[in-house]
Amino acid sequence: MPTESDTHYDPSLGNKFIFVTGGVMSGLGKGITAASTGRLLKNAGFDVTAVKIDPYLNVDAGTMNPYQHGEVYVLEDGGEVDLDLGNYERFLDIDMTSDHNITTGKTYQHVIEQERAGDYLGKTVQIIPHITDDIKRRIREAAEGTDVCIIEVGGTVGDIEGMPYLEALRQFAHEEPEENVLFTHVTLVPYSKNGEQKTKPTQHSVKEVRSIGLQPDIIVGRCEDRLDPETKEKIALFCDIPTEAVFSNPDVEDVYHVPLMVEEEGLDQYVLEHFGLADEALPEGERANQWREIVTTEKEGTVDVALVGKYDLEDAYMSIHESLKHAGFEVGVDVDVHWVPADELADGHEGQLEGMDGVIVPGGFGMRGSEGKIEAVRYARENDVPFLGLCLGFQMAVVEYARNVLGLEGAHSAEMVEDTPHPVIDILPEQYEVEDMGGTMRLGEHTTVIEPETLAYDLYGDTSCSERHRHRYEVNPEYFDAFEGEPLVFSGTAGNRMEILELETHPYFVGTQFHPEYTSRPGQPSPPFLGLVEAVLERSEADDAETADADADTDAETEVTH
Ligand code: GLN
Repeated sequence: MPTESDTHYDPSLGNKFIFVTGGVMSGLGKGITAASTGRLLKNAGFDVTAVKIDPYLNVDAGTMNPYQHGEVYVLEDGGEVDLDLGNYERFLDIDMTSDHNITTGKTYQHVIEQERAGDYLGKTVQIIPHITDDIKRRIREAAEGTDVCIIEVGGTVGDIEGMPYLEALRQFAHEEPEENVLFTHVTLVPYSKNGEQKTKPTQHSVKEVRSIGLQPDIIVGRCEDRLDPETKEKIALFCDIPTEAVFSNPDVEDVYHVPLMVEEEGLDQYVLEHFGLADEALPEGERANQWREIVTTEKEGTVDVALVGKYDLEDAYMSIHESLKHAGFEVGVDVDVHWVPADELADGHEGQLEGMDGVIVPGGFGMRGSEGKIEAVRYARENDVPFLGLCLGFQMAVVEYARNVLGLEGAHSAEMVEDTPHPVIDILPEQYEVEDMGGTMRLGEHTTVIEPETLAYDLYGDTSCSERHRHRYEVNPEYFDAFEGEPLVFSGTAGNRMEILELETHPYFVGTQFHPEYTSRPGQPSPPFLGLVEAVLERSEADDAETADADADTDAETEVTH
């Protein structure tokens, strides 16, 4: 039986590995720093991928509460992963697989399964070497076929849970040629009361890193502003790296500007030189520049979109926020997202939606807030406000229409009210079978067939689309007849699953059973989001024209009466 170590790849494959750790505190944006470095290497012509290590015991993020960890990001292969993978997909414009999210749960589960199967031939199974070997194997496999792999270790150096990973990285660096591995440590550089940039937290953090046997090659200081030259020198001296290897990552108004900041400091060039890749890279004048053009688009005006959700936390709906930004880049407007608490919207509190240019009802699980979401749909439908319903939002649009237009009193999703008289949303019989087999959700990319001559067709410009899913419930086929001949049509389907709905009598009323927000990228905005923002702009142009006409009429009247 092969042991884990036998699966090591030949180092002559030449993969380059950038390890990114964080110190002082979490939430410093080391993922964005890492993704930004990756973006620049990609601009320079390299194939870049990433791995996120989450040292928690959960096998994946599927069961995690978005209020604690932010949204559960869904990959093409159905992997339910940490939201940082979303940032890597958006920054690097790649599609990753679940293998790119390593968790302690996954690693231990695999090693314990092998132990149970007798694969270790009676040996004592230990963190070193068995867990560390498994970690190294996963990193090498994820990097296969690319030039550069960025590996971000979640949490902060010194956390007990992170220790096996840092040990694995130490071994990794020992096994690979020196020029193939680079360690980046991201720390916080706070200001003192008298406005001085303080390096002590960085010094302590680097001391911790070194006590584990790792030496950073690069230090990135997160600070409100750029690091002063003296700050850089101090960090270099105390942490034993060249001053040129200390970089700033100052606060920026938008995360998409971080690659531009990092580029100005020359981080990408330093990395390329460390790897001996400077000559392989495209000359600076020839590197891809679309990113800069896209993210620095001049904006004219702002549109206000209500996000009617459960959580007062931007991270819980991160991909939706990003998708709206991408749509905004495309048409040159800023999109301001206003969180509207779904559970407050029921009982006639729709005032919170007044003045909103568009309404989004996002995905979600469970009863809480569902009546408010249904109210939000009603408000948007009746007032011709551009509307986009995502997954649960799509389902609530079906429920709202069933109740208020088809007159099916008490209609609901069987997820919320099991004994509803009209379960217009329910689990399909075939899904019951899947549940019996232990797979409870329809996950990942599936193809939707799009009806020609529909709004959905105009949006996607095709008779099919492939988007990511994460749901159990569906439009109940027993109610298909009830929707027959109605202006609400299902313009996208997958067999007997309804996937896209639209309301023909409304300027923009679209719902998708899938989550288009997971495939939106800067420069390639998701069609339903772009459609929403465009519909908002068209509507406000029409309003302006109407006001202008009314003004002209008043002027004419004034002239007559004079
Ligand atoms: N709770 C709904 C379902 O399981 C919707 C899921 C979602 O919005 N992601 O079908």
